[in-house]
Amino acid sequence: MGVPRNERVRRDGDVEGDGALGLYVHVPFCAAICGYCNFNRGLLDEDLKRAYVTALTREIERSGDGRRVDSIFFGGGTPSLLAVEEVARVLDACGRAFDVAPDVETTLEMNPESCSPSYVSALLGAGINRISLGVQSFDDGELARLGRAHSAEQAREAFAAIRGAGCGNVSLDMMLWLPAQSRAACAASVEALVALAPDHASLYMLELYPNAPLREEAARRGWSQAPDEDAAAMYLDAFARTDAAGYEQYEISNVARPGRRSRHNLKYWRDGEWLGFGCGAHSTRGGVRWKNLSETARYVDAVEQGARVAETRRRLSVEERLGDALFTGLRLAEGIDVAVVGRRYGVDLEARYGSDVGRFVDAGWMTDAGGRWRLTRAGMLISNAVLSTFV
Ligand code: SF4
Repeated sequence: MGVPRNERVRRDGDVEGDGALGLYVHVPFCAAICGYCNFNRGLLDEDLKRAYVTALTREIERSGDGRRVDSIFFGGGTPSLLAVEEVARVLDACGRAFDVAPDVETTLEMNPESCSPSYVSALLGAGINRISLGVQSFDDGELARLGRAHSAEQAREAFAAIRGAGCGNVSLDMMLWLPAQSRAACAASVEALVALAPDHASLYMLELYPNAPLREEAARRGWSQAPDEDAAAMYLDAFARTDAAGYEQYEISNVARPGRRSRHNLKYWRDGEWLGFGCGAHSTRGGVRWKNLSETARYVDAVEQGARVAETRRRLSVEERLGDALFTGLRLAEGIDVAVVGRRYGVDLEARYGSDVGRFVDAGWMTDAGGRWRLTRAGMLISNAVLSTFV
């Protein structure tokens, strides 16, 4: 699943893989803009959305080469602002352009305020089989501070609607370390998430980018984020709770029931290949990485005119690919197979990083056993500091 096992480094430095592709479809529209968000998104414009979906189907069709695809992910933005017919048109285009596996994982990100039982049922009928619901918190005060357009009760109702429609693969997104959030309040939200028994959950520590409106508002209103030691406790409490509830933490910020890891996201972490469609979408394939035009209307115009939509495109060096493979692979609880990654990129990893890894093992941040390097949970907590050694 997603791991190109027969890869080899070619003479020209390219790295070939035989894993199935993932397709990412970006939907840049939102009903309201959250004060912490720096994704590529804007307010919903129905006319632009119609033109955008047509552009997406054209981009997909002209990129298609019949290659095997085993995951499709609608991300955003708020993909649940698409009408079911629009989702179906995009999926049809994927089916015409690629060899979509019968057991393809097809995820759509959804916000609670754009969820209804009939909408979810129709999405499942159109081919969506996994829903990722953005709840972020189960505390109305925290949701209001974040600028979210839904309450905790709406999140619960949305989850019930998704389950009621028969979706057996649901992920919940939550954020920890919110402005003015106490350790107890954070634990209460995690408890509420566990009580819903999703199949998968993503629990990210909120990082406010320098000019985030929420950062300024929080400073004005005195909503400070808890001190670092409390932030660490929030993270450790959260994953201790999901452990106790029977979830497996398979990545720094992600837990799953058995068999419910995100196949699509594993491609990013396991050095796989994917194509991104839509404005600002990134793609990585055959050692080449490119990024589409970010601005929605410019992207639509470019597709309509048959022009290139990639604004940057470059071949990665083997060193860059190795750095990415280590940086992303070590995010996973399974870590990396030192011999396999070393062979894939023609580098003796022990010779290059062995003393750093030894230092991290002594500090309790990594383990080095059975030919694999892994982060411990303490290492995951400070992952940026540890992983920066490998890039
Ligand atoms: S709904 Fe999601 S993508 Fe849209 S502004 Fe809020 S956080 Fe960003």
